Amino acid sequence: MTDFASISLSGKKINVSRKEMTFSEKIFLPSIIKGMGITLKHFFRKKVTIQYPEVKREFSPVYRGQHILMRDENGAERCTACGLCAVACPAEAITMKAAERKKGEEHLYREEKYASTYEINMLRCIYCGLCEEACPKEAIFLTEKLVNPEYERGGFIYGKDKLVMKPEQQVK
Ligand code: SF4
Ligand code: SF4
Repeated sequence: MTDFASISLSGKKINVSRKEMTFSEKIFLPSIIKGMGITLKHFFRKKVTIQYPEVKREFSPVYRGQHILMRDENGAERCTACGLCAVACPAEAITMKAAERKKGEEHLYREEKYASTYEINMLRCIYCGLCEEACPKEAIFLTEKLVNPEYERGGFIYGKDKLVMKPEQQVK
């Protein structure tokens, strides 16, 4: 007859010993000392935590943070509002409105069509970098900058005021 008590389907069965506890086991002293020893050992080890925000962790060289909308060598916005970045975005985080460049605005916008509104919802963004890959004008890049914390959700909708490269950031 099969001894069902000895069958173990997972192979992880442990036979529990029901022997009487000794006095030291009853007062848990060895276990407490063992636990304190483990705590003490970790106390002198190198800490894995950092004191943020005073100390900042170094990011990976391929880290992707906040976006930047680039200007060309003359300071004109490179984006032509083609919408390819928005189409490529898996999180549907990018929206824009296109406008036609007027006479005399050549120094502001590189192409005849430009983005009068360009917004990225930083709460939706997953920082995948596909917008950067999709852009035929090298107009959008993800930088190392962290997106700032906000109290209101609306603060995470970044418009051109936060995204377009500042003139002083321009690489000549
Ligand atoms: S990084 Fe990815 S998720 Fe974020 S806006 Fe670009 S394509 Fe969309
Ligand atoms: S950022 Fe690039 S892909 Fe996106 S609308 Fe502008 S030009 Fe097109």
